[in-house]
Amino acid sequence: MTTQPTLDDIRRAPKVLLHDHLDGGLRPETIVDLARDAGYDALPSNDPGGLSTWFAEASDSGSLERYLETFTHTVGVMQSAEALERVAYECAEDLAADGVVYAEVRYAPEQHTEGGLTLEQVVKAVLAGFAEGGRRHGIRVGTLLTAMRHQARSREIAELAVRHRDAGVVGFDIAGAEAGYPPTRHLDAFEYLQRENAHFTIHAGEAFGLPSIWQAIQWCGADRLGHGVRIVDDITDRETDDPRLGRLAAYVRDKRIPLEMCPTSNIQTGAAKSIAEHPIGLLRRLYFRVTVNTDNRLMSGTSLSEEFAKLSEAFGYDWDDLQWFTVNAMKSAFISFDERLELINGVIKPGFAQLKWRGDRPVG
Ligand SMILES: [Zn+2]
Repeated sequence: MTTQPTLDDIRRAPKVLLHDHLDGGLRPETIVDLARDAGYDALPSNDPGGLSTWFAEASDSGSLERYLETFTHTVGVMQSAEALERVAYECAEDLAADGVVYAEVRYAPEQHTEGGLTLEQVVKAVLAGFAEGGRRHGIRVGTLLTAMRHQARSREIAELAVRHRDAGVVGFDIAGAEAGYPPTRHLDAFEYLQRENAHFTIHAGEAFGLPSIWQAIQWCGADRLGHGVRIVDDITDRETDDPRLGRLAAYVRDKRIPLEMCPTSNIQTGAAKSIAEHPIGLLRRLYFRVTVNTDNRLMSGTSLSEEFAKLSEAFGYDWDDLQWFTVNAMKSAFISFDERLELINGVIKPGFAQLKWRGDRPVG
């Protein structure tokens, strides 16, 4: 038998994170330090506690403008190589402390050149921070380079990702407001990546509906979907024992296209009403390739363990469910098959087995 996981136990489980933004996971103390060093004087508070409260309130406000302002400040203090390296190092340290064994962390290089860095220098600084953090804290971190959908630099960023593919950049992503900026605007970048046998994911189906998901998969060829929650709009009879899948939903499930779901973030942006009503419940029940993610740990005041704990409470998930999500994520990672297998068989399965069966061992 397996027991209901507690938050403490979940922290000890070997976890995998595929959707996490570098500029959405800074420590408040680090923001204050970096702002002081860079002479950045626009922070709403120079006290880490006050800043932390401000971030939580702005992110929960329901106002997109206030939510986006939070990123103005994190990106604002990440404009030097030292700052980027420190933020990446601490990201690896924080994820490792939460029990994450493999992570893919994304950021948009073009947002970090205001202090005079070139795109190459930005990428190298982040890679250096992750390499050092990974070495010291026993976690593997791959990076995804993000292009902003309202900009016209996607091809350039895609080429940057391919140039650094052997140094730790494992893929490409496209992010930003969905409405008015369909992924098909960036076909040139996606076709280039396909010709280079490179991997990419696309933020789609968060705020915007099925057309966005359809374009990401059928026009752009995305390997994974960032969020993808609105795929439920293509499922009818959802409350019954026999939900019906439309052609797009069936395609996504048949092809095992990974969905990078971020429950708390989806509630803050209005893509879902509550954890209990989050489409993840239905999609897991229907065996879509669902993965659980954090999106922006600072803004959402969360960690991967906390996301799992909330889901476990809302849907009664046990260790088998949490292992299923974790193996799903590892299978969907952008590193090689050999490396994924090694982590699944050598780290994830033994780690969960130990936690699962602990209740059966004699105590004392
Ligand atoms: Zn995201």
